[in-house]
Amino acid sequence: MTEPVSAPFYEEEHEEFREAAREFTAREVAPHYAAWDAAHRVPRSLWTAAGAAGLLGLAVPEGSGGLGLADYRFRAVLDEELVREGALGVALALHLHDDWVLPHVLAHGTDEQKQRWLPPMLTGELVTSVAWTEPGAGSDLRGVRTRAVRDGEEWVLTGQKTFIGNGISGDAALVLARTDGGTGRAGEDGLSLFLVHKADSPGYGTGRQLDKMGLRASDTAELFFEDVRVPAANLVGAEGGGLRQIRQLLPQGRLAVAVAASAVARSTLESTVRYTAERTAFGSRVLDFQHTRFELAELTVEVEVTEAYVRQAVHAFNAGALDLVGASKAKYWAGERARSVTDRCLQLHGGYGYILDYPVAQAYLASRLLTLFGGTSEILRETIGRDVAGGT
Ligand SMILES: Cc1cc2nc3c(=O)[nH]c(=O)nc-3n(C[C@H](O)[C@H](O)[C@H](O)COP(=O)(O)OP(=O)(O)OC[C@H]3O[C@@H](n4cnc5c(N)ncnc54)[C@H](O)[C@@H]3O)c2cc1C
Repeated sequence: MTEPVSAPFYEEEHEEFREAAREFTAREVAPHYAAWDAAHRVPRSLWTAAGAAGLLGLAVPEGSGGLGLADYRFRAVLDEELVREGALGVALALHLHDDWVLPHVLAHGTDEQKQRWLPPMLTGELVTSVAWTEPGAGSDLRGVRTRAVRDGEEWVLTGQKTFIGNGISGDAALVLARTDGGTGRAGEDGLSLFLVHKADSPGYGTGRQLDKMGLRASDTAELFFEDVRVPAANLVGAEGGGLRQIRQLLPQGRLAVAVAASAVARSTLESTVRYTAERTAFGSRVLDFQHTRFELAELTVEVEVTEAYVRQAVHAFNAGALDLVGASKAKYWAGERARSVTDRCLQLHGGYGYILDYPVAQAYLASRLLTLFGGTSEILRETIGRDVAGGT
């Protein structure tokens, strides 16, 4: 295959969008990313700049103030450009807002909720988080213990969440809570989703910021809810419909991770080719050792196969045909490839690969999350395996 895989996948309009995304990342992200990494936080000005550049909420219809770019290739372009600058942390922070929260508002929000939330989500004035995981419930969301009890026109929310991205820097969280009053594992109708705003919610506490091994520019935190009064108008979707809504919209979240993982594998491979072409040992370029060329040959094929597979999933998503099994396959494959490609690329850097100044070290640490977040590789294989077994 001599043609780059990307040639038929992206069309002229995507490449025009790439120019805008590249200009944005060069101006607003690249010069500051190291400082954000050290501060363990991206500033609000990044979000409002992204909003001003029209990069948030691409899928929001024009009638609601967005650009109506539901074609996921535009999101993929933005991820690729952020990853090319080494800013996977920014890409994933945007994912939470755009691929994990926004779909719920678009698919299940009332007209009133859309009017209230979409404009500030588009401008970056309302930054959102996904608050599903708890200390006792990660893979198994039926174990969620945060509870919401109806009291007139409000719900009273009590509980604790952990691992919440944008948890400190964000303004509101899409919280998964038990609404059937039960204890033990929840049934199919036992959980609901609420958008809970930090500023006007006494009892909404932010716990410690978790010290991650990679992706340090994005904040990840514990959240606490102590008798937080949430307006009934902030229930997103049907009471008791939380698990069904999550299953329905999870394909987009998993596709987003797959797209980012594929982009990390590609950009790490490219920077490794450059590095091995510059580095010399025993009087020759590291690139010219047969072992290096074999490694890079294998890695190139792996990256191209991954791109092709993920792009097929993007096409399926655009056609409304990406189900949970398809998205799980794409995330499983791309997440595991990002992990192995960054590991093998690090090896080709020798000792410098271990030094955080080098992009490969950052990519290695960052990509380790991609087989954990949004469904671990074990859970993904469970989903895929059940589908395989179901056909026998
Ligand atoms: C940096 C980071 C950011 C995150 N951001 C968010 C966020 O913004 N919002 C949010 O809600 N969550 C977030 N998460 C949580 C993430 O989605 C969970 O960590 C993940 O779903 C796994 O849950 P867990 O950590 O409780 O692991 P567990 O569920 O306890 O799993 C432990 C191990 O058991 C395996 N396992 C579990 N069940 C099975 C099974 N049935 N079969 C085989 N193996 C199984 C797992 O694969 C894993 O290897 C984040 C996590 C991290 C680390």
